[in-house]
Amino acid sequence: LAQLFRPLDLLGMVYRTIRQGAIDMEAMFRLIDTPAEIEDSPGAPDLHVGAGEIRFEDVRFGYDPEREILHGVSFTIPAGRTLAIVGPTGAGKSTIARLLFRFYDMQSGRITIDGQDIAQVSQHSLRAAIGIVPQDMVLFNDTIGYNIAYGREGASQAEIEAAARGASIHDFIVSLPQGYDTRVGERGLKLSGGEKQRVAIARTLLKDPPVLILDEATSALDSRTEASIQAVLREMARRRTTIIVAHRLSTVVDADEIIVLEAGRIAERGSHAGLLAQGGVYAQMWARQAAEQESAALPAEAEA
Ligand code: ADP
Repeated sequence: LAQLFRPLDLLGMVYRTIRQGAIDMEAMFRLIDTPAEIEDSPGAPDLHVGAGEIRFEDVRFGYDPEREILHGVSFTIPAGRTLAIVGPTGAGKSTIARLLFRFYDMQSGRITIDGQDIAQVSQHSLRAAIGIVPQDMVLFNDTIGYNIAYGREGASQAEIEAAARGASIHDFIVSLPQGYDTRVGERGLKLSGGEKQRVAIARTLLKDPPVLILDEATSALDSRTEASIQAVLREMARRRTTIIVAHRLSTVVDADEIIVLEAGRIAERGSHAGLLAQGGVYAQMWARQAAEQESAALPAEAEA
């Protein structure tokens, strides 16, 4: 009889493990896992990042080869500079970020980091070089300390706390009864959108990558939280080659170059001031957002 039950126990255990792990798995898939078809070429060398120049050369890509999403995108981000990508939903902004991380291989074109084709180097070395601050951070069902430490294996408590300070979340963490040992995620303490973003930032600071992808949160944070997170992100981007996938224009004003992506093509490019002077799509987007912000601000002022 015991023999009969064992498989069932095992099944139950597997089921519980999977259920428990669902959130972790989701996070893993979003952050580090890749579709199975991406494989390192045999003997692929590691990527060596020096200064960190990124180039997209005539990149064409569709998730489905029948439906091309990016129709020949080219740009260069000089080492240490910031490129912002703006444009309507579905234009292909996030796709550009995913390709740099090599979640997918493209149909044609090339992406290089310091002259090395990212399709030719080992994936682990590529991903080690890139930090992503995603728009919706999924936390592991573990302690807040673990969630930060995940940025770098073997990090010391002092390094974890330094990263948390850099992300302005250390004070919040030590104010919790269990401090860094507080459990978070689905079955622990629920963090606000802003707090989750800070955890993501702390994790990335700990990883200390030369290349950064900031996928700006679409979910609105209150403007004070927003401003302080912006400041942390700006500081983090200062010495790193950075791509900002921007959903609001307020965050791109300081970018070295802004690309306006429309239906998988670069419609305009330039600095904020240059694009405003052109009076094209970007200038219209800017005017529209400014108007929206103003009308959104009015009722709040009336209440105050
Ligand atoms: P953006 O970030 O500018 O909103 P995306 O890069 O997410 O745009 O999407 C560009 C296009 O690719 C959209 O038409 C979207 O539907 C499609 N797309 C995005 N992700 C996938 C996917 N995993 N599989 C198939 N199509 C996708």
